Amino acid sequence: MRVPFLDLNRQLEAIRDEITAEIQWVLQNSSFILGPQVTAFEERFAKLHATKYCCGVNSGTSALHVTLKALGIKPGDEVSVPVLTFVATAWATSYCGAKPVFCDILENTATMDPQSVEKKITERTKAVIVVHLYGQACEMETIGDICKKHDLMLVEDCAQAHCAEYRGQRVAGFGVAGCFSFYPGKNLGAYGEGGAVLTNDESLDRKIRKLRDHGQSERYHHDSIGFNYRMDGLQGAVLKVKLNYIEGWTEQRRLAAQKYHRALKGVVLPGEKSDCRHVYHLFVVRHPNRDLLAHKLSQKEITTGLHYPKPVHLQAAYADLGGKRGDLPVSEAWADECLSLPLFPELTDNEIDYVVENINAMAGAGQL
Ligand SMILES: *Cc1c(COP(=O)(O)O)cnc(C)c1O
Repeated sequence: MRVPFLDLNRQLEAIRDEITAEIQWVLQNSSFILGPQVTAFEERFAKLHATKYCCGVNSGTSALHVTLKALGIKPGDEVSVPVLTFVATAWATSYCGAKPVFCDILENTATMDPQSVEKKITERTKAVIVVHLYGQACEMETIGDICKKHDLMLVEDCAQAHCAEYRGQRVAGFGVAGCFSFYPGKNLGAYGEGGAVLTNDESLDRKIRKLRDHGQSERYHHDSIGFNYRMDGLQGAVLKVKLNYIEGWTEQRRLAAQKYHRALKGVVLPGEKSDCRHVYHLFVVRHPNRDLLAHKLSQKEITTGLHYPKPVHLQAAYADLGGKRGDLPVSEAWADECLSLPLFPELTDNEIDYVVENINAMAGAGQL
């Protein structure tokens, strides 16, 4: 049996007619950039996460950048970021000319370690970006308290955490802003690039709206140096359709994860916190012989992924900051041992069983 890591076609089959109708509308109305589809999506996406405002942009990376820019992050500032994340979390800080301060993660859940954040705070630290990695919220109470105590702005990178919850509250509203990605493989995926910033702060939302559209207050009147970070009408239309399904898809992800949790043996399972609603963007296990396990699974036609094999502080792009192996040991161990198993809403029970049987046979029988 061939088990793909992700198969977007299965989802498309279920919604093709609705998507086609929406795309036709956009074409017929030449509503290619922003427009009513984007506005409708923004309103519904804000509601979904119980925030007041949503500003659609053209990627998760843009969402993070435009947020830090609107918050006034500038050269000389420091922003705390975890190193086990997609590198764009750190890019946003660098784009503003500020310095990312690299923090470690917790052993059990791979989410940001509050103590690591607090230890590295200096008088230059202005903000903390938490990443709700793999779809599970960070320790928001502790991190929120740290931010309050040190007067830091809290930004949530929610790129992997659509509809995730911490103590019954959806992510994105814990700090000043929540940044989302709609990269096609994310829990809510566009058919191209897309992103959004959610906030409860009206003046921040206004600033972000202006910055995404060339800093214009009205056409050809530019108040500040802005960006072209506008969301496409086509992506707004696609995302609006998909919003009708996201809750169901999320439940299917959680069910698939539960099946893995109950049946897998011989690998370290991902920690799931009882006070969080984990939305399982990824199901990441650990094994000391990760590369061999991945190789053997690929021989059985099971595709896996690595999230992420090289922590941000060890990336060549950040060599000038002097990061080295040993600096952030928990993140480094995760990077060495992590393996992401196939998981998407349409993954079948047979496919899950096949993955489980193979892993249990390999890891359990000392073949690794
Ligand atoms: C995907 C992702 C991003 C970047 O989003 P893009 O839409 O690809 O620019 C940022 N942070 C995290 C944690 C992500 O997973």
